[in-house]
Amino acid sequence: MTLLISSTPTFARDIDGKAISAKVLDEVREEVLALAGQQIYPALAVLLVGDDPASHVYVRNKLLRAKEVGIRSLEYRLPETASQAQVLELIAQLNADPTVNGILVQLPLPAPIDEQAVIHAIDPIKDVDGFHRENVGGLVQGIEVLTPCTPSGCMRLLHETCGDDLSGLHAVVIGRSNIVGKPMATLLLQANCSVSVVHSRSVDAPALCRLADIVVAAVGRPALIDASWLKPGAVVIDVGINRITSEFGNRLVGDVDYASARTVASAITPVPGGVGPMTIAYLLKNTLIASRLQRAAQARGQQPEDDLALN
Ligand code: NAP
Repeated sequence: MTLLISSTPTFARDIDGKAISAKVLDEVREEVLALAGQQIYPALAVLLVGDDPASHVYVRNKLLRAKEVGIRSLEYRLPETASQAQVLELIAQLNADPTVNGILVQLPLPAPIDEQAVIHAIDPIKDVDGFHRENVGGLVQGIEVLTPCTPSGCMRLLHETCGDDLSGLHAVVIGRSNIVGKPMATLLLQANCSVSVVHSRSVDAPALCRLADIVVAAVGRPALIDASWLKPGAVVIDVGINRITSEFGNRLVGDVDYASARTVASAITPVPGGVGPMTIAYLLKNTLIASRLQRAAQARGQQPEDDLALN
């Protein structure tokens, strides 16, 4: 594929996350069908604790998409008052169930449940969010593991936009969270980009950002990044999802000022309709990867939980 980054852009074209995620879901559907031919039926367990309205919407969408591609999904709900022990007990049951390939615990969890304790109770080979420390370590070492869904989705958007080879491009990731910024920077490094990570203590973030061929914004600040932060022709991936209220009502905006940035960038993800749909698509991809890793571990006669450690 040809590299599309240009130094003389006009207006940026949109990177269509809906269309690209549909392509990913088609790939998943095809693989699910092929596995069914071998009597293999990958299953995803989703655990929702409490009454957070946004979490309910996210879980509903995940289950809906799973059903659409033929992945068996199991929904578990615990009340807001559930104890950490109850959550851990359910995870232990799901870890031990060989018919469950992926376990997702919808975050945030109600206080006082310790999220880290819950994440690290999930068998790493079933950790389809890719947040377990074994998966984080494996990602850094370049071992095939379960990788966080949003950064994986962003990489796919970049490959669809810039081509297979990102070697030598300078990528700036704005934000260093464990779920987006850090794994994103690691994936870009593995794709042979030169990577800078900008965060709240960075000095002159706009100047650092202006050096970038690729900008990935994962900050959580509405419209922080405008045209003045961008090198002409940069490709911009906006991970941010910020709900703002104006005279026109509630709406979602990204971390990038879309109208301003598209006068300088060569390609940009809109919000909504950019990164958002990719996250669920890669959750379902991860469920298939988890199923494959578990079958490989079984074939080698290992307990699934030993597999990542031995890789
Ligand atoms: P987070 O944990 O709050 O991390 C935000 C990061 O931004 C931090 O590393 C912080 O730096 C940095 N930051 C804050 N202000 C900054 C500034 N002025 N300049 C440069 N860096 C700054 O957020 P997150 O979980 O990564 O999420 C980021 C955004 O992505 C949110 O809007 C979230 O809703 C969205 N998101 C979307 C998806 C999706 O599927 N589309 C998935 C996940 C998250 P410090 O580390 O120095 O504090």
